[in-house]
Amino acid sequence: MKKTGRYTGVASETACLKLNIGFDLRIRRTHRNTLGVYVYPSGRVEVRVPKYAEAADIAAFIKSQKRWIEQKLDAVSTPVRDNSALHYLHGEKLDMALMPGKTSVELEDAQLRVSIPDIHNRDVIQRCMIEWYRKQALSHFSQRLEFCLQRFSHPRPDMPSLKVRRMRTRWGSCSSRGSVNLNLWLIRLPQSEQDYVITHELCHLIELNHGPHFYALMSDVMPDWQSRKKSLDSHPAASLQGWEY
Ligand SMILES: [Zn+2]
Repeated sequence: MKKTGRYTGVASETACLKLNIGFDLRIRRTHRNTLGVYVYPSGRVEVRVPKYAEAADIAAFIKSQKRWIEQKLDAVSTPVRDNSALHYLHGEKLDMALMPGKTSVELEDAQLRVSIPDIHNRDVIQRCMIEWYRKQALSHFSQRLEFCLQRFSHPRPDMPSLKVRRMRTRWGSCSSRGSVNLNLWLIRLPQSEQDYVITHELCHLIELNHGPHFYALMSDVMPDWQSRKKSLDSHPAASLQGWEY
């Protein structure tokens, strides 16, 4: 992706560099004796020049490097597919493409477009993705919690507070103080299976243990819970550990 137009260097000097180039660049005067150009992974172009270099010399240098800069910019801006981790959202498998740039995660047509300054930094990718999943999970689960609560007629538990955390062995848990904890990775499973887990935890707010009353309540509120449980257990996203790189 090429940028167009405007120079972002020192205004007075870039104004007199009337170059017809299709990208932004920044001119930095340094104590060096030669001119040099740098293309950063973010797509930023920086030209370093001697302190008293003439505008005409700088312009000539940039023109001579134009092709090289363009090639570099093309290379840094091509998204790199990354399948080293499996990603799912609501049961759907997602592809991931990494791009150098300002940190952001976007989802479009089942493709995650992750933009970060250094696409080789696994720790940062991981942090970014966990944060993204958490954002999805918090907003989606609180909606589903409200929806699932409506299935209860009598008794109906009070709206619990919701916590989303990464758990290794459980999809959900609840506390007698009226809060429901959901596993962050439940967001990778289809909504119908998410609802099953949420409903299970809501039932615990009324029946704490897995006794006959609990299952009676569960079947009353969600008659098809058993088939949902089955598809939850067999879904490929269910067997993924927290994070797999
Ligand atoms: Zn339980």
